[in-house]
Parts: sequence; C-alpha cells; structure tokens
Amino acid sequence: MRTSDGERTRYEAATPRSRAVHQEAIRYIPGGETRTSTFWAPYPLTIARGDGCRVWDVDGTARLDFFSNFTTLVLGHNHPAVTTALQEQLANGTSFFGGTEHQAKLAQLLCDRVPSLEQVRFTNSGTEATLNAVRAAKAFTGRAKIAKCEGGYHGTHEALAVSTTPQLAQVGRADRPANVPADQGLPQSVVDNVVVLPFNDVAAARRLLMEHHGELAAVIVEPVLGNGGMIPATGEFLAMLRQVTSEHGILLVFDEVVTFQVARGGAQEHYGVTPDMTTLGKIIGGGMPVGAFGGRRDVMALYDQSSDGVHLGHAGTFNGHPLAMAAGVAVLERLTPEVYRRLHALGDEVRRRVSGLARELEVPLQVTGMGSLFALHLTDRPVCNYRDSAAVDAESRDRVFLGLLNEGIFLSPKLLGCVCTAIGEAEVDQFVSALRNVLVRNFQ
Ligand code: PMP
Repeated sequence: MRTSDGERTRYEAATPRSRAVHQEAIRYIPGGETRTSTFWAPYPLTIARGDGCRVWDVDGTARLDFFSNFTTLVLGHNHPAVTTALQEQLANGTSFFGGTEHQAKLAQLLCDRVPSLEQVRFTNSGTEATLNAVRAAKAFTGRAKIAKCEGGYHGTHEALAVSTTPQLAQVGRADRPANVPADQGLPQSVVDNVVVLPFNDVAAARRLLMEHHGELAAVIVEPVLGNGGMIPATGEFLAMLRQVTSEHGILLVFDEVVTFQVARGGAQEHYGVTPDMTTLGKIIGGGMPVGAFGGRRDVMALYDQSSDGVHLGHAGTFNGHPLAMAAGVAVLERLTPEVYRRLHALGDEVRRRVSGLARELEVPLQVTGMGSLFALHLTDRPVCNYRDSAAVDAESRDRVFLGLLNEGIFLSPKLLGCVCTAIGEAEVDQFVSALRNVLVRNFQ
C-alpha cells in the first residue's frame, strides 16, 4: 500500500497496549505525553524497558534504538558500569542538602576534557543550563539581547523560545529571519530581545551581528543544529561568530547538550573554535536528568559566594543530583579516544550506506550529521540550514518514521538518529535493510 495509512494500520495492529495506555493517559495528561517531542500520531509507543541498543514497548516488541533518548545514552541502555554506579549511590541515599564527591569528580572530568571550561555548575536539564548561561551572559555584559540561530533549540525557557521550529510561511527573508515566537503568550519584550541569525550564512549573520553588537550579551549556537536536523555548522560560520563576538565583547556560548558526544572535548574540539561559555546535558548524566553550564573563570566568578561583589543566584534542590553525578562519572570514564573513533566510524558507515541506498533506489533522500549523530531528510536538495530541513514533505517523513517503527527501528519522528556504543555492524545492516523495505514500500 502506498499511503501512510498502510504504515499506520500496521503500527496500530502491532501496538494495542501502547494505544490503551495512551487513551488512559490523555484523561490526566494533556495529549497523553509529558514531553512535546515524544508525541506522534496516531499515538506514541509506551516503553517497557531498554537494554543495550534495544527498547521494548509494552506489547513486547523489541526495536533497535537509534535515538538513545534523544542522543543521551551513549553507552546504550543498562550499561553495567552505569547501573553499578547508580546502585552504589542508591545504597547511600538519593539526595542531600550538600554536594558529593561525584559532583566534584564530574566537574573535574569535564574541565579536563574541555579547555574552555575553566569552571562549571550543574543543573537538572539542558534547559536550565542554557537558561543560566544566558542569565550569566546578561549579568556579565550588562546587555539585554541574545543572538541565536533560526532552527536552534536550546530548551523550553522563554529567553530562547524564538524561531526554534517556525512555520516556513512565517520565517521572512533568508538573510534577515523574522523573530517567530515558539509559543503563544511569549511577551513581545522577550521576542524583541532575540536576534535571529541565519545558520551557516556567514555574510548575513555577520551583518545582523554588526547591526546589534552594542546590545548583545551573547550569541548562542549549536555547533551541529540538532533538533533542526543534525546539520553541522561550517567551520567558517563558527569562526566568524568567534571573531565578531571577540571584537565586540559579546560572549560566545556553544550549546553542546547534543554535540558533546562528537569528540572528547565536544564539537568545539572538532572545529578548533573556543567559546566563552558551554552548555551540556544528556550524556553527562548517564541517563539521569542533568545539565551543566560553564566556561570562563571571570564569568563563572559571578557565582562564587566566597568572594565579595555581585553574585548571581543559582539555587536548585536537585542541582548536582548524586545519582546523575555518579552515572555521569561512569559514562565519561568509559568514553576513551578509541570509543570516539568507533562511534565516528559507525556514524560514517550509516551516512555512507544511507546515501548509497538513496542513489540505488533513486529516492530523494539526504543524510546529514557528524560523528555519532545523523538525520535523514527526504529531499534531493542539500540540507545546510533549518529552512532546507523544514521544507521536506511532512507526510512522507511521517510515513518513513512509522515504517521504520514497523520494521523494528526507533528513530525520532523528525528522523534524527544516533549510534551508541552498543550498536555494531550487524545493527547497522539491520537498519539499512529496514530502511530499504520502507523506501521500497512507500516510494517506488
Ligand atoms: N539544548 C539542546 C541543543 C537540546 O537539544 C536540548 C534538548 N533536546 C536542550 C538544550 C534542552 O535540554 P533538556 O531537554 O534536558 O532540557
């Protein structure tokens, strides 16, 4: 059958228990999900458990997990080192009014790996990490505006909730993107404090930065636009951001919540560009809720209560949560240079084979990404920015997403994916043959 109904019918037939759980959940949770990104039509899967590179839904179906909770579980589900670290911490208690040795250790591990991180503080999510980095930048510079890229996603707080996933009808000129609020009810004053830059357009972004340089506290950028389609920045784009921000006293913030896994020192190591501040999350908590922000010592000094002067507040009952800190240490200790090489090779293999498949089947399909991160785009045009990736036909994308679930492969609804260390050649083979089946079934 060539319509999405074919994939949908098959999905519904295989997932009755997920549907039942969802139908019960929507009575109490709006939309039945508590996370915007995990909803899809007709209803999302309910997950029972995960192990290694597999997740099982409540109907007992196993799928290969090529998304690892949005790139979080770089060692796969239930890695013994992480489970042991969690059990040891659990035996000693879950949370305290005070720090732990694991917190100090994780901070040290991060600062050792990332030269630009002179000091760091922990949060419970990537959202809180970018929220605090932006507050710090505003306090440090005394300026009110932040520049971010169109299609850049940095969490759910207001200051950056502009032009995250705008409708293409609203985005305006390519060289001067409109400020599109992510949600209704975002105060105009918040929207007006954001300058939206076109990702990977060096000349236009430079022009916009020069127009606003005296008002800008920070430029925040994902070195690989993650939610916007796993699209790597060009080296020239990041170098231009570094140059203009340095010249005008603007802080450059790299949001490495997703990209920290592309190299031992994050994407900044890969590009050789040193930001003033970095935000982290996901992999550094080993599957527990986590975030971190840090960078230049003079900026982070705003938080040093042992010194005189102005301090910035950063309380939080669960900051540096003992379980997240223990799991994070366990993960980072296992991410050796050899592991990164393997993840890169596997990511390259996925990209190479998907491109080959698209050519062979003559299906308009691009694959983007870097290192372990990748995304599929149903288009024959190069994908260099948010607009390129948002231009794909959503109905076709939904079909591929549901089709892959039907074939036992878990990608994100936007067809974002990643490989983790539990994935090997055999799983990549399985992924490619599943994708072949879906493409043949729906597009040939
Ligand atoms: N920054 C980026 C680049 C992200 O992708 C995300 C989440 N996907 C966040 C920040 C927010 O992190 P969290 O969901 O942990 O709040």
